Amino acid sequence: MSEDNPILPELARGGGPSRSDGGGAGVAGAAHRPSTTGFAGGPPPRSGEDLPLDVLADFPAIPEGWAYLDSAATAQKPRAVVDAITRAYGETYATVHRGVYQRSADMTLAYEAARRRVAAFTGAPSADEVVFVRGATEGINLVAQCWAGTQLEAGDRILLSTLEHHSNIVPWQMTAERVGAAIDVVPLTADGRIDLDAMERMLTPAHKLVALAHVSNVLGSVLDAKRAAELAHGVGAKLLLDGCQAVPRMPVNVAELGCDFYVFSGHKLYGPTGIGVLWGRAELLDAMPPYQGGGSMIDRVTFARTTYAPPPGRFEAGTPHIVGVVGLHAAIDYVESIGLERIHAHETALVRETREALAGLNSVRVFGPDDSAGIVSFAVEGVHPHDVATILDEGQVAIRAGHHCAQPLMDALGVPATARASFGVYNGPADVAALVKGIERVTRIFG
Ligand code: PMP
Repeated sequence: MSEDNPILPELARGGGPSRSDGGGAGVAGAAHRPSTTGFAGGPPPRSGEDLPLDVLADFPAIPEGWAYLDSAATAQKPRAVVDAITRAYGETYATVHRGVYQRSADMTLAYEAARRRVAAFTGAPSADEVVFVRGATEGINLVAQCWAGTQLEAGDRILLSTLEHHSNIVPWQMTAERVGAAIDVVPLTADGRIDLDAMERMLTPAHKLVALAHVSNVLGSVLDAKRAAELAHGVGAKLLLDGCQAVPRMPVNVAELGCDFYVFSGHKLYGPTGIGVLWGRAELLDAMPPYQGGGSMIDRVTFARTTYAPPPGRFEAGTPHIVGVVGLHAAIDYVESIGLERIHAHETALVRETREALAGLNSVRVFGPDDSAGIVSFAVEGVHPHDVATILDEGQVAIRAGHHCAQPLMDALGVPATARASFGVYNGPADVAALVKGIERVTRIFG
């Protein structure tokens, strides 16, 4: 349910973006996206819930016949999010935290309601533990600089994995170099998961921090995050989870997972770009110095001495991305109106169907575990992934080709790049069929 929110009254009524409302789902989407019979099915839908999802009509930027399969890069936006942003700029706009006039007070309420919404959505024990950042990249940099940069000493160690996104590698390298810490890398299992048995063997009391992707943006592998937390805590290390690809695809509860920091980006969760979330345990955030200096993050400023606001304000210097926060709130309402369990089942089924179809093609290599979440990386023998993506684009299928900001993983896989199809709530069996047809065409052209 939405929190009381004067800026988003319809959201405050708890309806959120209904799949049956005016801007909402359903009818048109059902009409223009033919269904195929090949839906292999994942976990059975929960009672009363139909799969595959049929919410395509909620997404104004997806034209008829276009198979958008790049949601791992960024998700398309539902009308409810577009409308919330339009309303926030076009009707209710004002600054937050400073104004004494009513409009600003209302916007401040909306901004803080969104923070509580994020806390409820992620299972954070307190909204004060939710820091608004630009995205996962900034969240990780913040922890690398303000926590690791002040807590780690020469000789300490940081543990990462082979499949991390560059944004969960480079910030740690920068901090490690500065403080004299070392970085170790957990290998992957043969099917492309972070090898937690290897991690158990590698961890030592010198490890102060473990930072892992909850879901891989290349392989879709899902981390056993609870076990990772237990292992990290077993040697006294903290665990940061990069939840960029998990939060849009499955229910996430940071308290249940037992991690210490969690980051994600709004734009992959059907929300705006430029807004993301860092969650951190209160005692860790309390002990951290500010990230950037400026307005809003202070308690009292004099030229002799400045004192800082408590978290989360301490980490939100300057005028924040007010409308981004409002849009993120709408995005969370949207995904929850569908249900994360249901989204997960939907995407898992699409992945299964894709993997089964590609396994039947001789010249195609599929990466990652069978139960990967929403993401399928593959290679067509003898064809550069960019050529694969270009030919698919001719058939109205949009996939990503490249190293996916995971060059160490490409090295481990022994390829310069992969082609990657990634799913969202708006995809259906027809998109899988279009993808497979396009790949068959690639094999014919190059065969
Ligand atoms: N981690 C993962 C797993 C990602 O997929 C991405 C985005 N591709 C990021 C981090 C970085 O996210 P952003 O660019 O939104 O900060």
